[in-house]
Amino acid sequence: MKYEAVIGLEVHAQMLTETKIFCRCSTKFGSEPNTQTCPVCIGMPGVLPVLNKKALEFTIKTGLAMKCKISSYSRFARKNYFYPDLPKGYQISQYELPVCEQGHVEIVVDSEVKKIGITRIHMEEDAGKNIHESSPPKAGGGNYSFVDLNRAGVPLMEIVSEPDITRPREAVEYMKKLRAILRYLGVCDGNMEQGSLRCDANVSVRPAGQDGLGVKTEIKNLNSFKFVEKALEYEIERQIKILKEGGKIIQETRLWNSERGITESMRTKEEAHDYRYFPEPDLVPIMAEHQLIDEIKKSLPELPDAKRKRFVSEHGLPEYDADMMTSEKSLADWFEEVVRLGGQPKAVSNWIMGDLMRLLNEENKPFEDCSLKPKQLVDMLRLIDKGTISGKIAKTVFEEMYKTGKDAESIVREKGLVQISDAGEIEKIVDDVIAKNSKEVARYRSGEEKLIGFFVGHVMKLTKGKANPQLVNELLKKKLS
Ligand SMILES: [Zn+2]
Repeated sequence: MKYEAVIGLEVHAQMLTETKIFCRCSTKFGSEPNTQTCPVCIGMPGVLPVLNKKALEFTIKTGLAMKCKISSYSRFARKNYFYPDLPKGYQISQYELPVCEQGHVEIVVDSEVKKIGITRIHMEEDAGKNIHESSPPKAGGGNYSFVDLNRAGVPLMEIVSEPDITRPREAVEYMKKLRAILRYLGVCDGNMEQGSLRCDANVSVRPAGQDGLGVKTEIKNLNSFKFVEKALEYEIERQIKILKEGGKIIQETRLWNSERGITESMRTKEEAHDYRYFPEPDLVPIMAEHQLIDEIKKSLPELPDAKRKRFVSEHGLPEYDADMMTSEKSLADWFEEVVRLGGQPKAVSNWIMGDLMRLLNEENKPFEDCSLKPKQLVDMLRLIDKGTISGKIAKTVFEEMYKTGKDAESIVREKGLVQISDAGEIEKIVDDVIAKNSKEVARYRSGEEKLIGFFVGHVMKLTKGKANPQLVNELLKKKLS
């Protein structure tokens, strides 16, 4: 029997507000523990939370960008559970009345566009952080647990998808798309290492073609694209194996163990009623005015999906390239600037996806820190078009431009990289190569035409890659025939 997976993701995105969601404490990352706290966020009795308006605006903005309906009436709820990093004994979240519902985003997998539904986007506060340490014998030994409440009350958006995802790769593309949209909007920095974007994945399997859903498990706190993909691949296989052996899947929460490459049971899954949700009595319901929603709508930038479509229609890029070029706003702007200055779009996207991405990755740099200027690439492309340098030499020039910041022309001049397009000069070398390789010449003449590559390689080697490849080919074919 063949099985298929059904995947739904709950993504937590930390909002880029300066202060927490219900108090004025700073949200800055990396400060000394418990220095960004106050009676509200450490849960003292008698305090009153007040909603951060920016958090509401960011959530509406995100909802509009993901084509959601914005509720004219929503409210907060208490989600009750006990854990040492949650001083109030409940988390203020949203339950039956979230701010945004019924949206979607588009992803591109294998050059095909797929729509992934968004069930809801709601606001909630983050919890603190527990740290478990053993102190060295010199300091008295023993095990200690600490709690840092700097993160308690930091505003989060929880973005819940419909179970429209069927493959781990789609889950990764979906996560990447959410991250791109959030970063375009400036509502979340998308920094997964610092936990500003993390994901819980619900996954179940069922016999292919069947309508009903299988029993699902939830994998908690996946904080990199790689972990999302690996954990889902493992979990899908694990469930299929159990079912094939006649076993049953237990509804539970599991954790991804990245060192062992497996998911492990953490606890049996709570149901919503275990949390005893009830409306938060300390906060008034939210009634977002049309005027506010309209204003936010007007402030939306061109988003990744719209940009991708435009790059296909306006610049003639393939779907895959357009998706890559629009994955970051800084990258999309850079690409369009090169094109505006006269670069041929497909050539530009090839240079970006190939050499530029490689060089940035080697330094672990995000695109926004790219120091290469659009004009440098355009000037280099012109040198290729004019035949001054070959495509092969251009790779050397490109790397040199990236590393030194110099323009292509000076690099070509200084390093003597100008392409040899003088037929006489190339002819001498071609004659030389033919004279020295009589065996191969004989084989070529008896029909082994693929040996042309051997001769081209020799000529290129002798000219340090500077010979005009077209001329080399023409001359060789003439002389060998
Ligand atoms: Zn506070």
